[in-house]
Amino acid sequence: MAYDSKNLISISSKVDLSEEEFGYRARTISILKKLGFPVSDGYCMSSELIRQIIEGGPTPKFSRRFLEGSLFCLRSSPIYRKWRGPESILYLGLNREKLESINDIIGESLGKYLYLEHIRNFGVKVLKVEPDLFDQTLHHAIKIENVKSVRELSNNLIDDLTSQFEEYYRIQLGFDFPEDEAKQIHYAIKFIADEWENPTSKVLRMSLGAEPNASMGAILQKMVLAGEKSRFGLLEIQSINSSTGEENINGRYISKELWNLQSTKNFTYDFSSSTSIEDFNLDDCNSVLAISVLNEIDLLEKKVFKSFGKRLNFSFLIKDDEIILIDAKDVELEASALMRLNVEGVIKGLITKKKAILSTDPEMLLDSLHPQICKDAEIKVIGLGLPASPGAVSGCIAFRAEEAIQMNSKGITTLLVRSETSSEDIRGMHASAGVLTLRGGMSSHAAVVARGLGKPCVVGVSDLSMDNSLKSLVTSEGLIFKTGDLITIDGSNGRVLMGDAQMVQPKFSKHFYQIMEWANELGKIGVKANADTPQEAIQAKEFDVDGIGLCRTEHMFFEKNTLQIMQKMILASNEVDQNIAIEALLPIQQGKFEEIFKIMEGLSVTIRLLDLPIHEFLPNSLDELKILANDLGLTFSQMSERSKQMSEINPMLGKRGVRMGILLPNLYKMQVSAILNASIQVYGSNQVNFAPEIMLPMVSSSKEVDIIRDMIDKEVDIVTQKVGSPVSYKLGVMIETPRAVLKAGELASSSSFLSFGTNDLTQMTYGLSRDDSGTFMRDYIAQKIFPEDPFRSLDIEGVGELLKIASERSRASNPNIKLGICGEHGGDPKSIEFCKKIGLDFVSCSPYRVPMARLGAAHTKSC
Ligand code: PEP
Ligand code: MG
Repeated sequence: MAYDSKNLISISSKVDLSEEEFGYRARTISILKKLGFPVSDGYCMSSELIRQIIEGGPTPKFSRRFLEGSLFCLRSSPIYRKWRGPESILYLGLNREKLESINDIIGESLGKYLYLEHIRNFGVKVLKVEPDLFDQTLHHAIKIENVKSVRELSNNLIDDLTSQFEEYYRIQLGFDFPEDEAKQIHYAIKFIADEWENPTSKVLRMSLGAEPNASMGAILQKMVLAGEKSRFGLLEIQSINSSTGEENINGRYISKELWNLQSTKNFTYDFSSSTSIEDFNLDDCNSVLAISVLNEIDLLEKKVFKSFGKRLNFSFLIKDDEIILIDAKDVELEASALMRLNVEGVIKGLITKKKAILSTDPEMLLDSLHPQICKDAEIKVIGLGLPASPGAVSGCIAFRAEEAIQMNSKGITTLLVRSETSSEDIRGMHASAGVLTLRGGMSSHAAVVARGLGKPCVVGVSDLSMDNSLKSLVTSEGLIFKTGDLITIDGSNGRVLMGDAQMVQPKFSKHFYQIMEWANELGKIGVKANADTPQEAIQAKEFDVDGIGLCRTEHMFFEKNTLQIMQKMILASNEVDQNIAIEALLPIQQGKFEEIFKIMEGLSVTIRLLDLPIHEFLPNSLDELKILANDLGLTFSQMSERSKQMSEINPMLGKRGVRMGILLPNLYKMQVSAILNASIQVYGSNQVNFAPEIMLPMVSSSKEVDIIRDMIDKEVDIVTQKVGSPVSYKLGVMIETPRAVLKAGELASSSSFLSFGTNDLTQMTYGLSRDDSGTFMRDYIAQKIFPEDPFRSLDIEGVGELLKIASERSRASNPNIKLGICGEHGGDPKSIEFCKKIGLDFVSCSPYRVPMARLGAAHTKSC
């Protein structure tokens, strides 16, 4: 089959290739070739060609002339390096026939060893042969010859092992090891195409901002072999420090001698310091040549940077007196280094503020605010779920909230591991360093609370299961983890790891604050925070928010004593008992509101009246029921009867939000009184200028709003009389039911603001539970039914359409209405772009997502 030459381009054609069509690596290599770098021969395959192969099309055929006498390496080339294509496959084409000539070049012992390794690696990686089969044989051989590594085995034994390995192919696969180089290349290309498509790789790259249908090209290149007697080494080099952004030459060098010792030599070479070239001694053989690369690299880099504005990490093979470029990748700068370079670029007049903002990746910024797993850390992944709240943390497993609290009080860093969480777990979540749930989606309880607390969280890990009788967590491989066992979660990409891992800690540099200031100038949309507690308000203020857009009051009731009082108020069978509970709750709520108002120093604060599925407040153990019955003077059976009356079959669609406020009016009255009194306490007679914003959840009818408004106005009268000066407030409505969308015009006419609760609106639009979707979301995305998780990034076509309808209807009836979004989508750059497009005034998100939201707002095309 002949391929379009536009899908298969020879590196030596010196054609410029685009990242979109061929990926970052192919584009880099093609430019370097054009600039005169010594790049080894090969072909670039377009992403279109790889797409055709994924869909069952044939792999390309290469000419005999190209294949003969050489070995090859196959590398992936996605659009961005951070999307991580499949691992490179080396030594393709190695077979018994070539081995003889290769032995002549590199020596018999090394040749035989490479062939053995190639058969194993090709089998395990590409053809999925069971690794244990090879590895047990190797361990046995190492024991017999009493050596430390395979490399030290005698040639005779390596010959035997090679024959055995070839036999394993016949046993496991039913065919011989493919000696033919064209066949090896065919299998390898098919392998990387399939790897790119596998659901796990897809979810991982989508967590790094890739589109669901993101494509990948590939490069097949000739490998350079160094002769037995020749002097050679591999030099990886770049001219910028990846973590600090400082200009200095650094990298690593592996000489032939170091390679035999499985070791490398890291170096930093600072031209501005007094280090002299003579001090810089990579190794005796190649130092002269390496130094000449060092001297030239600075010059070459400038040429490269001028050509396509990128810093590169080069891999050179240094062979006798030859230098060959074998790979070049974009330098992976940490967020702090990138921000430094961008800020310095603006100061030096090299780039505009807008360019600096555009080249600071919002997702990367978010990750940089939290600890990350060190890139070089050795890790074992035991599960993969949804990346619900960024950052990585290692800790000891606690399966219950109480357990987490106890372990934390003993100074043990704890990870709360649950099937899913509810309000009773909040204290445990506070006591834990991170949260892992086996069920749940991106806006499940665990995800929302963890994001608010700024703690790492992974949800919906369906490859792990909980064995409740054994109190253990079981992996798909059958590994068992018990209370106190150490695991790591990486909330930036959804990984769960065995044991602990080396971490990189976050840094807030002056460059970070500078980038934020510029983003603020360019963003042109308010960015508020979802903050429920004084601690979260402090964090929000630190990130310079425009106010609090959502204070979920139910999160204030998590402390054990408060929860009990709430339960008494809900379950009280007469008004006297109910009022006693309310009186006890009032000062607790008021105190929290006062603290938040003080912290926010006059910035707007939107407090949402209670919205909780009632089952989360009902006692769920016999002991709890007994205590409550005793406190309320009821018999046990009266109490359990009352609890039953209050419970619901489908609490997420039951007495939630404003409905509970109407059915239990004393509850909302207490909250309103606490809000008004707190604002008087903080602002005194100036209160009218800092009117608190009161927001109603789960509204579906304007009648609900009318009832609550009357009730609030009565409370206002009471407080006004008490303080003797006017008292003010603003009323807002959450748009989170489809009916509220349709009635937005009516709701807007008597409200100051509307805020889209896109978590519930997404749930109700799709009829998809936000708490259960995590278990199958990966499959749905893999099957391309959903382009991506609609709880993570707004479904523009469906839910977005509803936002548009509601905005138009509300603005038509009340042109002064303020419109915003406070669902989790408020922190997602793509969703923010849409919010700006339809003219929303603000977005509100968890405090730790505020910097990313600001940057996302400044990135959008509409600014
Ligand atoms: C929402 O539904 O989008 C919202 C903000 O409310 P909650 O997540 O508390 O239900
Ligand atoms: Mg909601």
